[in-house]
Amino acid sequence: MKRAIMICMTMAAGSLLAGVYGDVPDAKHAWAVHDRNRPNPVKISAEPGLAPSDATVLFDGTEESFRKNWTHKKTDRKADWKVVNGAMESVKGAGYIETRDSFGDCQLHVEWASPVKVEGVGQGRGNSGVFLMGNYEIQVLDSFETDPSKDPNPNPNYADGQASAVYAENPPLVNASRKPGAWQTYDIIFHQPVWNGDKLVHPGSVTVLHNGVLTQDHWEMEGLTTHCKRRPLAPHATRLPLAFQDHGNPVRFRNIWIREIPSRYANTTHGGPAADEKDVMALRRKTAAALYAKIDVSRKDASTLEALLEVVSYANEGVYREEAMRHARAYRDFVGGLDDAALQTRKNEITGLRRTVRTLHKGGVLPDSCALSAALEEICRRKGW
Ligand code: MG
Repeated sequence: MKRAIMICMTMAAGSLLAGVYGDVPDAKHAWAVHDRNRPNPVKISAEPGLAPSDATVLFDGTEESFRKNWTHKKTDRKADWKVVNGAMESVKGAGYIETRDSFGDCQLHVEWASPVKVEGVGQGRGNSGVFLMGNYEIQVLDSFETDPSKDPNPNPNYADGQASAVYAENPPLVNASRKPGAWQTYDIIFHQPVWNGDKLVHPGSVTVLHNGVLTQDHWEMEGLTTHCKRRPLAPHATRLPLAFQDHGNPVRFRNIWIREIPSRYANTTHGGPAADEKDVMALRRKTAAALYAKIDVSRKDASTLEALLEVVSYANEGVYREEAMRHARAYRDFVGGLDDAALQTRKNEITGLRRTVRTLHKGGVLPDSCALSAALEEICRRKGW
């Protein structure tokens, strides 16, 4: 019997798996640290100046794109927004436009330009707005001349209403405005408020880069946008259209794209505020089952033992544990019978298994009294490994 095991073990030398070496899954984490079984993110194409390949383009400069993706909210309007020279432009009296599709948490890219002809002051100069989910306004305004270092300020305005403000809540961190007529960019990362029925779990957040400069740093919303008042947050649909404001000024927009992103509350299987122990354990068991199905437990080799130890790092129970312990005992007996020369040829195998076993001890998967551990540690001590 021992001879048969030795033959198989010999065949397996040098073919070890990477092994378990990062902190193992726990009650709140379905994956180990540096877990090679954790799915890699989807590969996309991202070229500077272009919409990422997984983005939804909401306006590409054409009339067709405007008609396809946008609709006017106001039914009794006397005018429509228009498409001119590759830009869509607000027209006084046309009212808000909104996307035909609805969105929730998102990354949004918008380019906009204030009117070249400067008219009005403060809120009357180049006013429009990006309304996330139709409810949270990132102000669009000609704030180029608004400058508190000058006395008098050439274009005085209230701070929570200038360009890149979360309107009526939070001024931008800095005024990164470009001159009237120049194209400007908003890159917005938005998470909607999270509700459990009518109980607010998290107010959501918005981050804004204005012309590449951080102007809203993960601002947690206080309310639904309105004028003059503090209007508290309230539950709404989890997907709603994106809207742009007609405030009576001919503001232009172009190159608009959006990427839907997951809520951090959607991930219930790895850390984060919504980690759920039942979901974590379910995914750990699913991973264990998938890995175990690939193992030929009739093989008595170190690779099989490594694979079984990896399985129990996800689900230390039932047949997984029984097989892991059976193979651990067999391997302990096997290496216990090797002479120094044979052990030397298995240095990587043995030290690799020792690393795995140490990691499983640290994570509480294997007891400190594990006989395999004692045997590996003794060999490594004796060999100076
Ligand atoms: Mg506005």
